[in-house]
Parts: sequence; structure tokens; C-alpha cells
Amino acid sequence: MPEVVGRFAPSPTGPLHTGSLVAAVGSWLAAKQAGGRWLLRIDNLDRPRCRPEFEDDILRTLERFGLEWDGPISRQSDHGEAYAAAFGRLRELGTVYPCGCSRAEIARLASAPHPGEEVPYPGTCRNGLAPGRTARAWRVRTAGVTVHFDDLRHGTIVTDLGATGDFVVKRVEGFFAYQLAVVVDDWLTGVNQVVRGDDLLDSTPRQVLLHQLLDWPLPHYGHLPLVTAPDGGKLSKRDNPVSLAAGLAPGQESKLLAWALRFLGRKPPALLEGTPCRELLAWACGEGS
Ligand code: GLU
Repeated sequence: MPEVVGRFAPSPTGPLHTGSLVAAVGSWLAAKQAGGRWLLRIDNLDRPRCRPEFEDDILRTLERFGLEWDGPISRQSDHGEAYAAAFGRLRELGTVYPCGCSRAEIARLASAPHPGEEVPYPGTCRNGLAPGRTARAWRVRTAGVTVHFDDLRHGTIVTDLGATGDFVVKRVEGFFAYQLAVVVDDWLTGVNQVVRGDDLLDSTPRQVLLHQLLDWPLPHYGHLPLVTAPDGGKLSKRDNPVSLAAGLAPGQESKLLAWALRFLGRKPPALLEGTPCRELLAWACGEGS
């Protein structure tokens, strides 16, 4: 059995919040309980929204929670050449094509019920750009493609990717899309276990397809339950920050970590209340093994 290599990949667009803490602890536990390594990657693809001070804050916060990463930190901003090479391979394979549609046009054609909602691409440019149109993005062909993968929590997931539509891997201005970047990042750093929140479950089948097209081994995936805002909605970066800089009272880390472990189904015994984070993590690691 190869060594398990897991990872946590926060985007430095804000401080960590309770949802990202759960993803960090869940991915750390899955890797460490398997005797593996846990890597840290800074997902700074979305340059304008990423800020170095958030990156620093994320690193400091992980340290305060005793979540030590293995090896050097990787950053998406260093992976441009690898993204371009993977994209080149997809072009050679003929699995991507240029698309000239704007978001508004796609939404109109697919009759999006709400403005801004993601709708399946109707395939307008699949057989070539109409005369006079210029490419805005490159999409992957998904017609007739069904993807299967085994999720550590959800079991086997089968997705008809044709129904979700051809998706963007590159914008013509040169930006690579998250779906391609993350597949390249994980492959490049030897990650073979991807544990993250359920908010990314819809993206995983697209990433599985890209791994398959590029002929790269598929990581084991696990998607954790989402922490929701008190009103049941999606938690934003502003909600429940877990960093000191963003308002966490000093000394609350162990309490919050115990909460995250309970959320993940590991209930620390009462006598561990208030124990330093490292000891709580060591207990949790021994607990489920
Ligand atoms: N950077 C992504 C996020 O913060 C996570 C990417 C991933 O886990 O694949 O939501």
C-alpha cells in the first residue's frame, strides 16, 4: 500500500472559519490515522481576492490548533507551467474546445431560474465557433460521459456529466479554472487522499474525469458534512472566524477543536476538556484507529 498523502487547501481570501476548521481537522485525521502525511497548499488561483495577510493568518491559526503540515507549503501561483502542460495534453487529446458564450448568454439559453445561478452549458460551441465569434474559454466535452467514484463517507457516486454540461478549464485571458488547477495540484504534489467539505462534492466528478483523461491515478475522496450558518444557510468567511486576528478570544482553541471533533463524530471524554490542542489531536488519532 502506498503511503497516504492527504492535504488541506485553503484559499487565502479570508480567515479560517468553523467550516474550514472542520475540513482541516477531518483531512488531518484521515491522513494521520492512516499513518500518512498531510500537506498544506495555498489555493491562490483567484489572485485579486487572495491576500498575503490572510495566508499568514491561516498558517498561524493552523499552528495554534496544533495542525502541523508535512513538508513545504505549495502554492497554486507556482503551478502555472504544470497547468499549461496539462491543458496542452487535453488539447492534443481533442477533449477541449473553444467556447465564445458569455455567462449571460448561457443563462438565457438554459433559462436559468435565478440570475447568477450555475446552469448546464447547452453545448452551443461544441461543434465549432459560429462565424464572427471569438473564444472566451475552453471547455471539456462531457456528452455521454458517466463518472463513478467511491467516497469515504457517501459510498459510490455515479454522475451523468453530460447532464451537468461541458465545463470550463481555461479562460482565454490565460486563467486556468479551479477544476483543472486542483487536479494538477493534487497530482503534482503526490496527493492520493482528498478530504474536504460537501460543498465541493459537485465538483468532484469533473475532477475525476480530468484525472482519467490525463491518465493520472485517482485520489481517494471523502466529503465531510458542512457546517451551516445559524439560519441553516451557507457559512461565509465572515461567520465564526477561528483566528485570533478575526476575533477569536485567546485560549478558545482547545474548546473549538473539541467542538470540531464532536462534529466529526469523535467525542473527546470530559477529562480531556481544556487539554492542549496537540493532545486532543493525538487522542483523536488513536481513537478511530
Ligand atoms: N481552495 C478550496 C476552498 O478553499 C478547496 C479546494 C479543494 O479542497 O479541492 O474551498
